[in-house]
Amino acid sequence: MPKAQREEVIYNCHIHTFTIDNVPDNYIPKALTKPMQVKWLRKIIVKALSIVDPLNKRDFFERYAQFMDISSNNKQSNIFKIVQAYYPPETKFVVMPMDMTQMGSGKVPQDIDAQHKELAKLTKAAKGAIIPFAAIDPRRANLNTVLNNLITGKGYDGVKFAGFKLYPPLGYKPGNKELEPVFEFANEHSLPITAHCSRGGVRHSDFKKKDANKFSDPHNYVKVLEKYPKMRLCLAHFGGEEEWRKYLEHPSKGDNWLYRIRQMMLAHKNLYADISYSIFSYEDNAPILKVLLQDKTIRERVLFGSDYYMAEKEKYAEKRLSITLRAMLDEDLFWQISNVNPKKFLGIK
Ligand SMILES: [Zn+2]
Repeated sequence: MPKAQREEVIYNCHIHTFTIDNVPDNYIPKALTKPMQVKWLRKIIVKALSIVDPLNKRDFFERYAQFMDISSNNKQSNIFKIVQAYYPPETKFVVMPMDMTQMGSGKVPQDIDAQHKELAKLTKAAKGAIIPFAAIDPRRANLNTVLNNLITGKGYDGVKFAGFKLYPPLGYKPGNKELEPVFEFANEHSLPITAHCSRGGVRHSDFKKKDANKFSDPHNYVKVLEKYPKMRLCLAHFGGEEEWRKYLEHPSKGDNWLYRIRQMMLAHKNLYADISYSIFSYEDNAPILKVLLQDKTIRERVLFGSDYYMAEKEKYAEKRLSITLRAMLDEDLFWQISNVNPKKFLGIK
């Protein structure tokens, strides 16, 4: 396609702007949280840790400190400003709030409604650069009223939320009754839903990793997709970076999540997957992505996303990622996953 005919707007379908005020009190050990929030103390801690274990841990702690640096911002607008600067000015970002109220890790200083209201305000100020999603925990009271208000903008200064974000390992399982009202609502209004789908990330404090995996498992959505054909679903992280690596080593194993999602995509036309976070293991995973995208069905269902600022702990820089990915995939494939597919998923004409 000649360059002039292409609408060169990148859609980053998965970023975060929530702040330390949206994280429960007991999530990070208290002994570390408070001092890590103070810039000069954080520098000393990182330095001390690098002396203890200079070869192995330094890189990790430096990146962890950078992650803390970003989350310790008390305003979503400050975080958004950082990520926006990594991309061309016309880029659009799908912002995913997090509701960590019911994960058993203590009190959350700013509740989810206040987080959504702050995002609505930021959306207005960003003049079209933000497509806001709302974090839905089905255990919330007055669920249907909340869902209605979010998509009509009532109570959010007229700002309409464009879709919902689910995070099952926080304690609710797709396929169980509690999520039915959310899927029903999304189906009726033909809305997009993004659901966390990797073996990593945060989980309810009562869960071990393998319990959390049962909640994140892509197979939970097989019946959901059959029952709600008008709902568009994106499985975030395309199963997760570990699964991508394993895919190379045990390609035929049915329990591989990348393999499962790929098979499910062939059967369900409204199933998408974003490459956020997973693509930061760039050397391993970018070649897999390019090969997957040679299949027409898969090519039309993959969404570009970065998971900013969760991947700040990884060694690949955000700006370098999008540019290297674009050069490696070639223009047609890059714009397919960062413009054509996102618009279809988001319902943008
Ligand atoms: Zn994320």
